[in-house]
Amino acid sequence: TSSGSMIVVSNRLPFVLQRNKDGKLIRKASAGGLVTAVAPVVVNGNGLWVGWPGIHLEDPLEPIPESDPNDITPTAGLKSDKVVSVRIDPKIFNSYYNGCCNEIFWPLFHSMPDRATFKGEHWRNYVIANKEFARCTMKALKSVVKSDSTSASAGQNIPLIWVHDYHLMLAANWIRQSAEEEGIACKLGFFLHIPFPPWDIFRLFPWSDEILQGMLGCDMVGFHITDYCLNFVDCCQRNLGCRVDRKNLLVEHGGRTVRVRPLPIGIPFDRFVELAEKAPKVLSTTQKIILGVDRLDYTKGLVHRLRAFESLLEKHPEHKENVSLLQIAVPSRTDVKEYQDLKEEMDQLVGRINGRFTTPNWSPIRYIYGAVSQDELAAFYRDSAIGLVTPLRDGMNLVAKEFVACQISTPPGVLIVSPFAGAGETMHEALICNPYEITSAAEIIHRALTMPEDERILRMNYLRRREKLNDVNYWTRSFLSAMGSLATQDDHDD
Ligand code: UDP
Repeated sequence: TSSGSMIVVSNRLPFVLQRNKDGKLIRKASAGGLVTAVAPVVVNGNGLWVGWPGIHLEDPLEPIPESDPNDITPTAGLKSDKVVSVRIDPKIFNSYYNGCCNEIFWPLFHSMPDRATFKGEHWRNYVIANKEFARCTMKALKSVVKSDSTSASAGQNIPLIWVHDYHLMLAANWIRQSAEEEGIACKLGFFLHIPFPPWDIFRLFPWSDEILQGMLGCDMVGFHITDYCLNFVDCCQRNLGCRVDRKNLLVEHGGRTVRVRPLPIGIPFDRFVELAEKAPKVLSTTQKIILGVDRLDYTKGLVHRLRAFESLLEKHPEHKENVSLLQIAVPSRTDVKEYQDLKEEMDQLVGRINGRFTTPNWSPIRYIYGAVSQDELAAFYRDSAIGLVTPLRDGMNLVAKEFVACQISTPPGVLIVSPFAGAGETMHEALICNPYEITSAAEIIHRALTMPEDERILRMNYLRRREKLNDVNYWTRSFLSAMGSLATQDDHDD
């Protein structure tokens, strides 16, 4: 088989639109690993990208600008006629995005239901927004089918629609229905970038059946790890009464069989190595650095992490003045109350711990509330002794992977990772640390700080080898292969 054109559907387009001072719209590139990996597939395959442009446009006909001629990011090749920009009334968008996605699904899917507020109004706006994304995707699908029908390979390639993440869990089913009504063949795939919770958490959501039905509109549903796949299969069986096959991860629904697959996402490994090779030294310090890099989000376990570090300084005073915790906390969802409260709590905790231990020549915690550039980040990853990745729950966690990619100096440092992150499930040679156990977390940090060189080398070599092989391009290929849309050697041999 070979793949047809790919239509990617995500809440955000792979760039954001902004107005310059003359009021003209300009594109601002996004640099995430996902965009880097998926954009070339769309650009080279004559595909389309459906998403919200990051700005509310008053005139629905205002054209999307082309990319800046100097833009060298992977989305530069995405011409305006390959972009379908979704427009949603700002009030509805706010309720869909902040209300439903960030205030309900984010905490619920991270198994923190107490932080979620189930408001019917947000759900109704989520439904409206998903319908609009589905409508725009149909528009994209028709234009792809039209241009394919004039090409040499007419009729051979079935378009592939790839829907992303918890913002769009309903869209696939409506896309399938509309495509069937219009007699257009397409394949639908979905990937969830956050965890999928166990049934007893998922069922707390009053409209949980609708979500499952939405996702089951796809031919294949992908998650980071097998546990999330099994949770999903379990929910389909217990909520909807579907027949399921746990061994082969299959769900029967509406006369079709939906494939469920673990597809752990990777990073652009080589790009991070290159950044680490080029980045100038920014940490001028004689202390060993323990590094944390996270959005300021309650799922990241930042409060527990600071307490564990405090416990380390209590139990192992020999580390005083020799070790510092560098914590980058990137501002996130600042208009949501839970996030404002967390910011407050972190400010106080950092102040208290620093007040308690700081000496004239040393402060235990360096706390940066803000984003840092990719170059600077690569230098931090490279020059730190420990990467401390201890979320309470995390779909994957890319920081853990970027840290090992940038550990190019010998001898290398040590990665500590939580078993409750997807990364903890796959990065076996890291030190595994339960963030809820504060005192044992302190002992694990101590163990990392005192780990012999040869053990550090051995562990880091394995970790880096795995992430290099399973990088983000491998992930994109795995998705295509799970969709049955990748021309493989085996296919040619048939
Ligand atoms: N990151 C960034 N700027 C910063 C700090 C982090 O762009 O100042 C990036 C980091 O390189 C990583 C991403 O943000 O790629 C965080 O991804 P992760 O999966 O760890 O967590 P998420 O924020 O998606 O929950």
